[in-house]
Amino acid sequence: MERKIKLITLNAHITCKICSGYFIDATTVTECLHTFCKSCLVKHLEEKKTCPTCKNVIHQSHPLQYISFDRTMQDIVYKLVPNLQGNEMRREREFYKARNMPCPKDLPQNHDVDDNDKANEAHAESDYHRQDEQVNVCLECITNNFEHLKRRFIRCSSQATITHLKKFVAKKVLNGTEKYREIDILCNDELLGKDHTLKFVYVTRWRFRDPPLRLQYRPKVDI
Ligand SMILES: [Zn+2]
Ligand SMILES: [Zn+2]
Repeated sequence: MERKIKLITLNAHITCKICSGYFIDATTVTECLHTFCKSCLVKHLEEKKTCPTCKNVIHQSHPLQYISFDRTMQDIVYKLVPNLQGNEMRREREFYKARNMPCPKDLPQNHDVDDNDKANEAHAESDYHRQDEQVNVCLECITNNFEHLKRRFIRCSSQATITHLKKFVAKKVLNGTEKYREIDILCNDELLGKDHTLKFVYVTRWRFRDPPLRLQYRPKVDI
C-alpha cells in the first residue's frame, strides 16, 4: 500500500531543534536518542553538558563521547528532502576548497570499495565493526520445532542489518549462512524488513524500552 504524505508533516522529526534546518550529519545523543546536526550539537556541548531538547546531563566531563553519527536518520533525511544532499556536498566542497584543504568526504574510505580483493583486505584489517556503536540484542526462538541458540544474548554493531542476523541464525541452527532466507526475524510480533539496521529497529521499535533489544526468530512463514 502506497500513501502520499506531505513533507511538512514529517518536519518535526527530521529538523534540528538548534538551527531549525534539516539534519546535516545527523548526530544522536546515545542516552536520550535526541538528534541534531553534528556541528550544532558539538558547538552546544562546548558550553553546556546537557541535551538541548530534554535538558538531561549527557555526561559531566566528556559529553562528546556519548553522541554518535546517526547514518540511518541522515539517510532518511536525504531521501525525503529533494536536493539537500547535493546542495550540502557542494557547500562542503566549497568550504574546503576556499581553505585549500581536501574535503574529508572525497577521501577514499574503506566501506566504499566494491572491488572484492580490496574489500576482503579492508575486512581483514578492520576491527570487525567493534568501534561502531554497539547494540545488545536478545535473540530468542519462538517455535518449539526449531533449534534454540546456545547463546541468545549477543552484542553487535548498530550498523548490522536484519539480513546479518538471519545469516547468523542460519549458520547456528541450519548449519549454513546461505539458508538465511528460511528465517524470519520479528520484534513485538512484527516481521522486520531485511535491510533494516539494528540502529533503525532500536530507534523505531525499542526507543522507550530497556535494553537489550528483544528479537525473535522462527522458520520463514509464507504469507
Ligand atoms: Zn542544526
Ligand atoms: Zn535529549
